[in-house]
Amino acid sequence: MEARFSLRRELAFLGAAAAAFVLGLSMRPGAALSPAWLPAFAPDLAFVLAYLLAGRDVLLGAARNIARGRVFDELFLMSVATLGAIAIGRYEEALGVMVFYKIGEALQEKASERSRSSVRELLARRPSMARLRRAGAWVTVDPGEAAEGDEYMVMPGEWVPLDGEVVEGECFVDASSLTGESLPRRVGPGDEVLAGCVAIDGSITAIARKTEGRSAAARIVELVEEAVKSKAKAARLVTRFTAVYTPIVVGLAAAIAFLPPLLVPGQALSDWAYRALVLLVISCPCALVVSVPLGYFCGMGGAAKRGILVRGAEVLDGLAKARTVVFDKTGTLTAGNFRVASIETEPGFAEDEVLALAAAAESRSRHPIAASIRREAAARGLSIGAEDAASGIVERPGAGVLAYVGGRLVAAGNDRLLHLEKVPHDRCEAEGTTVNVAVDGQLAGRVTVVDEPKADSARTIAELAALGITRTVMLTGDCAASAEPVAKALGITELAAALLPEDKLERLAGLVAETRAARGATIFVGDGVNDAPSLARADVGVAMGAGSDAAVEGADLVLMTDEPSRLPEAIRRARHTRVVVFQGIALCLATKAVFLVLGAMGIAVMWEAVIADVGVAILAILNALRALR
Ligand code: ADP
Ligand code: MG
Repeated sequence: MEARFSLRRELAFLGAAAAAFVLGLSMRPGAALSPAWLPAFAPDLAFVLAYLLAGRDVLLGAARNIARGRVFDELFLMSVATLGAIAIGRYEEALGVMVFYKIGEALQEKASERSRSSVRELLARRPSMARLRRAGAWVTVDPGEAAEGDEYMVMPGEWVPLDGEVVEGECFVDASSLTGESLPRRVGPGDEVLAGCVAIDGSITAIARKTEGRSAAARIVELVEEAVKSKAKAARLVTRFTAVYTPIVVGLAAAIAFLPPLLVPGQALSDWAYRALVLLVISCPCALVVSVPLGYFCGMGGAAKRGILVRGAEVLDGLAKARTVVFDKTGTLTAGNFRVASIETEPGFAEDEVLALAAAAESRSRHPIAASIRREAAARGLSIGAEDAASGIVERPGAGVLAYVGGRLVAAGNDRLLHLEKVPHDRCEAEGTTVNVAVDGQLAGRVTVVDEPKADSARTIAELAALGITRTVMLTGDCAASAEPVAKALGITELAAALLPEDKLERLAGLVAETRAARGATIFVGDGVNDAPSLARADVGVAMGAGSDAAVEGADLVLMTDEPSRLPEAIRRARHTRVVVFQGIALCLATKAVFLVLGAMGIAVMWEAVIADVGVAILAILNALRALR
């Protein structure tokens, strides 16, 4: 099952096996091809050849696993059972087991290939971009359009789109996705950066060296492939199960083969040995081995079709167990589309001046507040060249930004930033979110920005409640005055405002611990701006589509769209997947139990056992495919 599956090769082997089998039949005494000189064992030889051709994978796999010290698995069961059948001259049955196993495997391969390709198709559509300097301005293009020698800029949290050499700026880059190196590396002018790294805490400009960028799209496809590999985790569970189950079955079979003939006079060993072999064939947990990982995989594939990327089977389990959902406010429950509502000025400053200073200071911030200020400045014709107008930019997460603009130190941010910078000010809270603008330690004005809840945020909370998740928490760095009305309108049960990113993390850790104590899981949903640590800290970290690449990297679940209502959908899908997986397990074990009894009693023959096993496997696979819907 590990090697790449090629249908054509399998068919060739099965064809050769069929030919050998027909040859064997026709060489039997009295048949067409049995001249007198033919030795009596010739047909047997042909049958054994047919068996080896059909069953080579199973036999080799069993041998390999034994060599690795993993003796008891389903391959071992099948090998022992069929070799035993050969030993007692039941060639057709030995061959039948192998052929049916092959058919089951082909079906499984086809099903998982189907869901894999649908995942790939979906992901290939995700846009990727490079910010290039063209004719003095920064333009966003597809990395494929970049040429060697192009100057490009990477903002905090973004992927480096192209290999290149840094010419300006300094930051830590995370190369773990490229090199597996877990420690971020500091880069500055003269250093090399590789496409696929993530700029963590600063922005850099670089000159492109190689143009074949590894796009974010390519990376996400890889992430999902990783997730597919993590089905190994579900498979490991099955392996643990077979490691206990198989020796028991083998012991039972041995007892059935030898005990009755030894203890009860007149019982033939061959008769009981056959029953034991039937038992071994029946007990082979193929259906389980195939359907459990496939069920999870289909669950992930079906979710991916809806723009919900699940990074592993255990994430589905986490979703299904969720009891608490923690939301970041801005960009997650609210649209994050801030709009400048009003500008107030202090004596000596004009509205446009305050706005232009703020826009310059915010030129490299990815915070949605920054975007709204830049937009407003552009609308008023103020921001021409603003990106280069500021230098020495420092972003204080949860507070604001500091930068030098035209030789003056500009601070733009909330009350906390004013305290940090010791800017004298009086009043603090208003409707909406206030961005104070200070110049050289003096308050120059205030820009008030407002944001609205997303259209489906309230529905999301209601749907979560309907799923039994009644504890919903909103964490925000925004002030309580602007956060409270939002929480109330959405039906959020708990609110914590004015938090720094590290406070959010602490709150979240507390919630995770409380929920775990009640045997539940905690989900954190963020938009990826400043909340990568929280995504990692929660049992299930959910990043929304527009978030930064760094967040996508750290999240367990990525919602490709900006609709929070995809979360309850993901939870419903996860629960459905678990039901499907458990059905597969129950179906498999129940059929096994019935046929084990029939086999031990000598009622079921090996053929029936094989058909029952393959039948259950196919049923379980078809059932697992339901998780795709
Ligand atoms: P949220 O929890 O709403 O996502 P953040 O932690 O990102 O909020 O930010 C909290 C607060 O910090 C914002 O409401 C804003 O007042 C201030 N802030 C953060 N970044 C900036 C910025 N780039 N410009 C202005 N203010 C900012
Ligand atoms: Mg945020």
